[in-house]
Amino acid sequence: MRTFLSPDPKSTGVFPHEHLLVALLPVMAYVGVRDRRLPRRAVAFATAVGSQFPDLVDKPLAHQFGVLPSGRVFMHSLPFALPIVAGVLAYGHYTERPRVASAFVVAYLLHVIGDTYRSLLAGEMPPDLLWPFVAAQPRPIVPFWAGIDGIHVRLWTAFSVVVLGVTLLVVLRDIRRQIRRRARA
Ligand SMILES: [Zn+2]
Repeated sequence: MRTFLSPDPKSTGVFPHEHLLVALLPVMAYVGVRDRRLPRRAVAFATAVGSQFPDLVDKPLAHQFGVLPSGRVFMHSLPFALPIVAGVLAYGHYTERPRVASAFVVAYLLHVIGDTYRSLLAGEMPPDLLWPFVAAQPRPIVPFWAGIDGIHVRLWTAFSVVVLGVTLLVVLRDIRRQIRRRARA
């Protein structure tokens, strides 16, 4: 029987808590070694959001709304991910908070690598990374984790709306604060 603890070996899914740990542990280790303390709240928040970000956007768009061919393209794809990474790093540099920006970027990229590392280790370029220039890897419309009547898909969509909504508010407030600070300076 397929369970949470022993998923179908054919499905190469990575669970949300695994993405979180894969991002949080190196960030905590880096800050711990450099500063002998735990990461600040902003760094921890950026790491947590970054570690889930591609799934927060792509999974609802693919499985709930059917606008993407797969839950692993768009924010999972380099043509979209790289400009976002560059924009976040530029904003962090411009507002003198490179660590918060780097934490998001590291967590985001570790997510994308976590989803594709098997192909990458085998020396293959996963087609999802190059979407929309290359067709997405075919996957079932109903993902293996959908649950009865797609309950997990709907719960994930609700979770995504809350997390992305809160993140958007935090970012907008931050941009407003930065503009005010620059105006005063
Ligand atoms: Zn993913």
